[in-house]
Amino acid sequence: METRFIRTLILFFILTIVFGILEHFWPSIPNQPKLRRGLGVDVLYWFFTPLVTQVLVMVAVAIVALPIYVLLGRSLDINSILAGYGPVEKIPLWQQGLIVIVLGDFIGYWTHRINHTITQLWMFHAVHHSSETVDWLTAVRIHPVNDVFSKGIQALPIVLLGFSPIAVELYTPLLSSYIALIHANVSWNYGPFRYAIASPAFHRWHHEIDKKAWGKNYAGLFPIYDVIFGTFYLPLNQQPKEFGIYGEKMTENFIDQMLYPFRNWKFPRRRLNTARTSR
Ligand SMILES: [Zn+2]
Repeated sequence: METRFIRTLILFFILTIVFGILEHFWPSIPNQPKLRRGLGVDVLYWFFTPLVTQVLVMVAVAIVALPIYVLLGRSLDINSILAGYGPVEKIPLWQQGLIVIVLGDFIGYWTHRINHTITQLWMFHAVHHSSETVDWLTAVRIHPVNDVFSKGIQALPIVLLGFSPIAVELYTPLLSSYIALIHANVSWNYGPFRYAIASPAFHRWHHEIDKKAWGKNYAGLFPIYDVIFGTFYLPLNQQPKEFGIYGEKMTENFIDQMLYPFRNWKFPRRRLNTARTSR
């Protein structure tokens, strides 16, 4: 736990400098304030998400995966679980990691899309969309239930296919830094490579409140999934301007955000309409 905290602190420190530079020299919205509403709560999420939510995700994956391991007659020895199994086990770890990222992003595309279409899931995902100023700090504002559901679904097929959990862990700091980049107040759209890799402009459009961007750009890394499934949206001479949840307000209070889905749970019909029209 202590090492995890120190690792998070170091990553946070490095990213503060890197994104301070990027957001200064290549801003998407030039006058977007750095000391903005919700800053404190987002800094809190930068520690809460890796230290609490990620642990919950691992526990959830273990609870579902272990009985399946037993049914498949696999050893529950920790070293054999970490080594992976089957034909996949023979692939070098770094290559396993790359396969996992491509496969994981495909599953991630669909779980993200489902988070936007099923009302009860949207209640939790809405917390991520509640930030009205999107910058690199917004990236990990995620309700734990949202993360356990999405990452759990992403992780399960990968673990069950025999990939080593270490392969996933290898790329975690890189991936969380990349997720921060696509939220950052940076104007890059990657020009001709815009279909290959998710850019800040691509993902910031996903957070745009304007109707034309609703239900677009679900992929976390590879926009090709959005191209294939008809949800790609990236105007080249325009930057998204307004962010948040259409027709709703959420306070910038951590406890309120944790309770938001449960407080709104009792109005499924009214909320259904809101969710259907609010991305
Ligand atoms: Zn979303």
